[in-house]
Amino acid sequence: MKKIDAARQNLDRLDSQLLDILAKRIEIVREIGEIKANQGLQVLDVQRERALLTSILEKAEKRHLSQHFVAQIFRQMIRYGRNTQESILTPLTHESPVVQYQGTRGAFSWLAARKYFSVRHTDFRMAGSHTYQEAIDAVSSGTSAYAVLPLENSLAGSFHEVIDLVAKSPCSIVGEEIIPIDLCLVALPGAQVSDLEVIYSHPVVLQQCARFLGTLDGVQTTAHEDTAAAAAKVQADGLKSQGAIASRHAAELCDLAILKEDISGVGSDITRFAIIAAQPISVDNHLPAKTSIVVNLPNEAGVLASIVNAFGQRGINMGKLESRPSADGSSLTRFYIELDGNAENPVLKEAVDSVRQIARSLRVLGCYVDRARLESESDDLLGRAVDPDPDPSAVELHVLPGKTPARKPGPKKPTFKFDSQPSGERSIVQVGQAAFGDGNFHVIAGPCAVENPTQLDLAARDARDAGAVVLRGGVFKPRTSPYSFQGLGWEGLRLLREAGDKYDLPIVTEVMATEQVGRVAELADMLQIGARNMQNFDLLREVGRTDRPILLKRGLMASIDELLMAAEYIMSQGNFQVVLCERGIRTFETATRSTLDLSAVPVLQERTHLPICVDPSHAAGRKALVAPLARGARAVGADSIMVEIHPDPANALCDGPQALSALELANLIAELK
Ligand code: PEP
Ligand code: MN
Repeated sequence: MKKIDAARQNLDRLDSQLLDILAKRIEIVREIGEIKANQGLQVLDVQRERALLTSILEKAEKRHLSQHFVAQIFRQMIRYGRNTQESILTPLTHESPVVQYQGTRGAFSWLAARKYFSVRHTDFRMAGSHTYQEAIDAVSSGTSAYAVLPLENSLAGSFHEVIDLVAKSPCSIVGEEIIPIDLCLVALPGAQVSDLEVIYSHPVVLQQCARFLGTLDGVQTTAHEDTAAAAAKVQADGLKSQGAIASRHAAELCDLAILKEDISGVGSDITRFAIIAAQPISVDNHLPAKTSIVVNLPNEAGVLASIVNAFGQRGINMGKLESRPSADGSSLTRFYIELDGNAENPVLKEAVDSVRQIARSLRVLGCYVDRARLESESDDLLGRAVDPDPDPSAVELHVLPGKTPARKPGPKKPTFKFDSQPSGERSIVQVGQAAFGDGNFHVIAGPCAVENPTQLDLAARDARDAGAVVLRGGVFKPRTSPYSFQGLGWEGLRLLREAGDKYDLPIVTEVMATEQVGRVAELADMLQIGARNMQNFDLLREVGRTDRPILLKRGLMASIDELLMAAEYIMSQGNFQVVLCERGIRTFETATRSTLDLSAVPVLQERTHLPICVDPSHAAGRKALVAPLARGARAVGADSIMVEIHPDPANALCDGPQALSALELANLIAELK
């Protein structure tokens, strides 16, 4: 065998191994995706990705590999990973779908469809149609599950025909895909640019390359159905006088030569495609999302400004605003609008509702994953990860119409930007398998403090057997006296994690200081802010920067407004996974440890979309009162309770008098379920 053949064989073998490793890597990425889905974690973990890339580049340097190319390869792998995890969190429902695209094999729509669906399905079929209309009709009539249609090119602008067709059709936008457009001048092998008399391509592409085409003397341009079909025509006609503008991929498919690359000549050129389906989807709220709407507005001064303000004042960015002449020649103007945010986000919903009042008609075309954000570089995202402090004057307190009597203008009311509950929505906060706020009643149980391995093991087993869904346990204890047991600290956290893993329960534990937050967030599934720290604003901001759900306890002397403002602190940092916990307040009454304010539950439900938990243990201080108060909590509409238990209450190091036994907990849960 020739030397070069042997070397090539070695290379082939290595490439196969690389592919095996890539397949394994994607498998693990999937596994992590499932964990993120179960634990309600963000897909975009920019800190982690940045750390990964840094460490990979260090390793590359040691191996004398080009950092530039290794970075490119790994950035693509990270994108592949994010797309894979997106498909787990927001799965498509059709199995073996038929995907319509406009044009022929090798066209940019075909490339976009292949990129989007090859991450989600191993068996999908692609069908090319002549026109956008045909592709959409195939979806609305049910013959195809999806259509992939171009929405916007970075140089040529919007594909108006597609926008109008989608707006008129009963279909929804369920996704978007972005691909770089590498436009090449292609012709028969051996042909020169000077041989060309006619150049075929898609009309938008001819427009994109106008500057280059202007430099060619005496060459005619002719619009063709799509770039790949233009290349196919040049191949079929076999004339050296014909050229086409098409992708590198189409040139390869048609055995054509590339005469000139990158002829749009303006550097980066991308096209964004919409994925169309018959039914809308909802996007998991851990993914960056966009919402498209179409509104018909009366042609009157100031109407458009009020629409723009309705979104702007609520901090919602409009990524695209395109006016279209009304189809029926009426005095209405149609606007296609893309909003940054999830259609199910209460603030966005409220904004859309207020626009509906002004518009003649409004239709939500769909909510879908924001591809540019999902695929952008970690470094770009880091800069945007923390939003500036919300402008407190931007949004007024949102009250439910009819539920609160009209007030005379008085002192300025507090401003809630994230908390408010304008139209009855409830947010769901996912902790392990439990979805707080989903309409089911959940129980968090565990000892006041983690004391030793045996005590915790027994308590965790009892909690699991009784039907609790989250294990609690304090490791940093906020004790009134500095001489009382202060908790086991990090050792306690390790024990709690082990018990959680052993009994398959997510764990919640209190953080008392900002320095603890990062490390506790690595091990705990949910972080608790204790009553005494409800207004520790630095701590609230710190937990707001994690991606862990937060159990926020009401302060002993805190009003409901103050509790909601504390939640605002957390959410203003981007963490919306907050469960509010009523745990009793200090009143003149001394018969109980605190006075459980059960009326706070329905009041909070009126005022906020966040799930509500009640802690009867700390309110009561005595175990005999725990069950009646828990029943009351359920009756007034709490989503969950948190209860303290102990395998040996008489010898508990902390809060023994209020701890339930295993049997008492089991009876209570059985009664409440
Ligand atoms: C606790 O739940 O462990 C606790 C100390 O409660 P609180 O902060 O409500 O007093
Ligand atoms: Mn306690």
